Amino acid sequence: MTQSHELRPIPVVPLRGGVVFPGVTTTVSIGRRSSLAAVQAAIERGGDLLVVVQRDAEVETPGMEDIFPIAVLATARDMLRTPVGIQMLVELHRRVRLESIERMDPFLIGRYEELAEEDAIDEGLKLETIAYLEQYVESLGETNQQVMTMTRSSETTGQLADYIAGLINLSFEVEVELLTNLNGRVRLETVLEFLRQEVRIADIRSKIQQDAREGAEKAQRDFMLREQMKAIRKELGDDAESGPEDLRAKIENAGMPPKVLERALSELKRLEYQGGQSAEASVIRTYLEWLTELPWTAETEDNLDITHVREVLDQDHYGLEDVKERIVEYVAVRKLAGKDMKGAIINLNGPPGVGKTSIATSVARAMGREMVRISLGGVRDEAEIRGHRRTYIGAIPGRIIRALRDAKTRNPVIVLDEIDKVGTDWRGDPAAALLEVLDPEQNHSFTDHYLEVPFDLSQVIFITTSNQLSTIPAALLDRMETITMPGYIEDEKAAIARQYLLKKQQDANGIGGVAVNIEDEALRSLIRYYTLEAGVRQLERSLGKVVRKLAVKVASGEMGPFTVGEADVEEIMGPRKFSYGLIEEMDEIGLVTGLAVNSYGGNTLPIEVSLSEGNGRITLTGSLGEVMQESAQAALTYARANARTLGLEPALFDKVNVHIHVPDGATPKDGPSAGIAMATAIISAFTRRPVRRDVAMTGEVTLRGKVLPIGGLKSKTIAAHRAGIKTVLLPKDNAKDIPELPERVRQDLELIPVGHLDEVIAVALLEPVGPPMKVGEGEKVVEPVVVVPPANGSSGERIGRVN
Ligand code: ADP
Repeated sequence: MTQSHELRPIPVVPLRGGVVFPGVTTTVSIGRRSSLAAVQAAIERGGDLLVVVQRDAEVETPGMEDIFPIAVLATARDMLRTPVGIQMLVELHRRVRLESIERMDPFLIGRYEELAEEDAIDEGLKLETIAYLEQYVESLGETNQQVMTMTRSSETTGQLADYIAGLINLSFEVEVELLTNLNGRVRLETVLEFLRQEVRIADIRSKIQQDAREGAEKAQRDFMLREQMKAIRKELGDDAESGPEDLRAKIENAGMPPKVLERALSELKRLEYQGGQSAEASVIRTYLEWLTELPWTAETEDNLDITHVREVLDQDHYGLEDVKERIVEYVAVRKLAGKDMKGAIINLNGPPGVGKTSIATSVARAMGREMVRISLGGVRDEAEIRGHRRTYIGAIPGRIIRALRDAKTRNPVIVLDEIDKVGTDWRGDPAAALLEVLDPEQNHSFTDHYLEVPFDLSQVIFITTSNQLSTIPAALLDRMETITMPGYIEDEKAAIARQYLLKKQQDANGIGGVAVNIEDEALRSLIRYYTLEAGVRQLERSLGKVVRKLAVKVASGEMGPFTVGEADVEEIMGPRKFSYGLIEEMDEIGLVTGLAVNSYGGNTLPIEVSLSEGNGRITLTGSLGEVMQESAQAALTYARANARTLGLEPALFDKVNVHIHVPDGATPKDGPSAGIAMATAIISAFTRRPVRRDVAMTGEVTLRGKVLPIGGLKSKTIAAHRAGIKTVLLPKDNAKDIPELPERVRQDLELIPVGHLDEVIAVALLEPVGPPMKVGEGEKVVEPVVVVPPANGSSGERIGRVN
């Protein structure tokens, strides 16, 4: 079957644990140094390379016998540095046969031979496969028009098989079978068989879910029927319900305060004059219906038993001691002050998924109150809060009044979500409206523009949530008592998963009663390799995925108990999504790990400095805010002033340009705290002393090198811990915060308080790898790293490009 082609030497990139198929352009993770070298070498020569698949993922440097002989001839188009590592963008052309490996070092070079594949056009088989693919995709809850178009445009059985194989999650064995088989029809039949099987499983799964849902559905259907009946009656003019007499009774029974009642009755009179069918009449009727549906007097009785509150909080949440204590205090004060309590508003501040909403729900449950949530994300219009005037066509009340109608009591817990995301291009001023809502001096007579009559909000407990404090208007922030929830370390996540999330997901998927044990290693793998977050939201979702697999087993007759091991996790979740451990591979010159806090929690913040011949200019790229620029200047001034002590010629600073880069997407909210990291990176670049990659640091720096305190130490150290950092340098004045850090963080990290930059340098920098830089040497000092800010929309950072 082989054609006699000249054998050509070409760089080879081995994949482990995964397979790619010809016919598409895709990204491939590049982990090994040798692979990186192979890709770079390929790119220099126009991009052609061979992608091969390793038999055993463990082998570091595979030889001929460790590789499947069928390879994919490809062209590397680009390399991207992404949060999950370096990725190659590659166009995959066709199968070829790997004939030999010529060289192993510094990367694999091989020779290949062209192959002739056996392929066919078979419309029947193609249509059947596409039909199953559609069902399969639908069962995953996705439909993708582009995929379908691509699929239809595949001409031969082999092309279609390859395209689908690249889309769906197959086991490694099947993937290899599909790669190495040269008969397109056989490949397509294999793919079809897989799809058939998956569709069958999905059917069973949806049957289970349907059983569980059936009860709920019946109630819903009844409701729908009743609503339809109402509509029909109305059509027939047989609408007894909203006739004026009926409305009058409703108004009289709604428990309105006298002034409101008066207003309602006068509107009713207008309605009677209007006669039933006019447009104006229907506006009035809607208005009166709103008035009658509000809980003017209905309320729940508070349970203010402190022990009970504490019990409920404990039942629903792991850890969070300080949060629970503050809530209990709040309830205690409420108990003492009685109904007149004019209290602070609790604001729960922290990254997504740390349990803010869930704590608020518990508060409501503990006190026996109703709860409603109002999401404020992106609200820019005052009318969203306070309603549109009735003269406006289609006007309705604002979200506060709607929430109260939903709560059906006048003393619910109202959660105002994402108060930090209330818009700032004011159409009216939503923040001012919120201020009035939250102010106990004013909120007993909150007036919605639509209702035009006051409603008493003083019995409502408001809890707000936010991801960050810096964007909350100061006047609002002043009213709130902020409780910070910085996020969880690995042990806490594991405990939350075991004690809460697993059970929740089992219940949600109808296998609440089945015994499921997740092994420690499996849970660790889920946390480390499939999630990257301060909270536990992705973790909960991942557990859901695992649980659904078990539900399918239960449905097909297995009883359990089930044990989920590490290997099961990999099988269910697919290839790892995140790497865990040290963020940098080597101790590098000019590359320092800073620590930052943004609205997603703490994060490591790589800061890169490179030097080139020039005239003392500083260039800053990436996401450097104004404050960061000032820090950079301060850092450079310090280095210049201390040139002699650092072993550098002062004149040098006028002969080089300094380029500082902080990757986008890492914008810290507290710019100055990157000061010492920036200074260390600059000094490292000038002195050619590599930076220890297991050290991270945070602290503001003065022109004289003094280290000043920073905020967010807890989030920052948690992030360092997650990244596998060993030593964290922090300002001396923050040493007092150390006892408040999670125990595990204190145990695992070496926390070194520092007062001066000298101490930072002593710990973080290693011995120089060559003499310090001299005047006239600019270009050669540091390997010029080409750092271009990423193109719009791409999350990766481009580090090299071919066209
Ligand atoms: P947030 O409102 O902070 O974004 P959620 O309240 O939605 O987060 O929490 C996400 C999920 O994680 C919920 O299912 C919640 O119950 C769960 N969760 C978070 N923290 C804890 C905890 N300490 N103990 C138990 N469950 C938790």
